[in-house]
Amino acid sequence: MDPTMAYRGLVLRLAANPVVRRALTVNGRRLALRFVAGETLDDALQVADRLHQEGILAILNLLGEMVTAEDPARKFKEQLLRLVDAVADRPWARYISVKLTELGVDLSEEFAFNQLAEIVDRARKAGCFVRIDMEDSGHVDVTLRLYRRLRAAGFNHVGIVLQAYLRRSERDLENLLPLRPNVRVVKGAYSVPPEIAFPSKRQVNENYLALARRNLGAGNYTAIATHDQRIIHYLKGWTRQTGLDRDRFEFQMLYGIRPDLQRALSREGYTIRAYVPYGQDWYGYFARRVAERPENLLFVLRGLLRV
Ligand SMILES: Cc1cc2nc3c(=O)[nH]c(=O)nc-3n(C[C@H](O)[C@H](O)[C@H](O)COP(=O)(O)OP(=O)(O)OC[C@H]3O[C@@H](n4cnc5c(N)ncnc54)[C@H](O)[C@@H]3O)c2cc1C
Repeated sequence: MDPTMAYRGLVLRLAANPVVRRALTVNGRRLALRFVAGETLDDALQVADRLHQEGILAILNLLGEMVTAEDPARKFKEQLLRLVDAVADRPWARYISVKLTELGVDLSEEFAFNQLAEIVDRARKAGCFVRIDMEDSGHVDVTLRLYRRLRAAGFNHVGIVLQAYLRRSERDLENLLPLRPNVRVVKGAYSVPPEIAFPSKRQVNENYLALARRNLGAGNYTAIATHDQRIIHYLKGWTRQTGLDRDRFEFQMLYGIRPDLQRALSREGYTIRAYVPYGQDWYGYFARRVAERPENLLFVLRGLLRV
């Protein structure tokens, strides 16, 4: 297996260890602030306001995942409704991202769908777009199902995510195309069984480009979510050559990662949106950012030694 994929799997397995989790939850909060806006909605709104002044739009994301009881899942829904109400008052484009496991999909698909539909309905009234994040490979089918149900119910201000590391994503996209989906293309951030994933970074990158070109070429709005400069450079050229209007796609990056590139794209006149996570349940998100880059593990280890 490609060393970067092996590194990700190793770090994510380590991060799931209860002892490591406890140690990092207690001592890592300060370090997590490199990637997370803060623990409160106000923290996130402040970051989004600041980004807006720099010409960068925000995707607000209440951190939470793998909820295993109805009460916390309902609390997440309530907080998400508050988030929708809060962004409705802001001067910038309204946009949130949600995770199905935060809404209780592991307890019951129907329960999660009802929770999601309530949020999406409130968001429609607030003029807010809702992106359903894609989680680990065990949740892809249910995520696609609930996305289809929302679209069938007439909710068109929702988008889906496809992960380039999964072999199945090409087929998933083909099956979605009749819906004219708004797709965010990502490489994929979870630990994934080798038999369903591309084994090398090169293949993941090739698949990334194939997915993005296919959705863009079919005339569907595409969020190119990556910090990979080569991919960004290529797709800037490709969209120019094919005469695709800049309002048919946007770039997306994560808060705290490559802010220089985010500002540069904004200056060039591209739509650029940063994913701004906030909340108390930051551990899983933080672990995935560390698992993306060995330098981040060094940053954490150095930070912990200074505690
Ligand atoms: C807006 C947005 C939404 C996302 N939503 C999802 C989702 O729903 N599901 C999902 O599985 N994944 C999601 N991801 C994460 C994605 O799958 C990748 O794990 C992540 O974007 C890193 O991959 P990359 O495309 O930037 O390319 P990489 O090849 O990993 O990185 C390219 C370059 O980006 C920089 N970089 C990348 N990661 C980091 C980091 N952690 N710290 C510092 N620098 C870094 C480095 O300069 C690196 O050389 C999302 C990413 C973005 C930007």
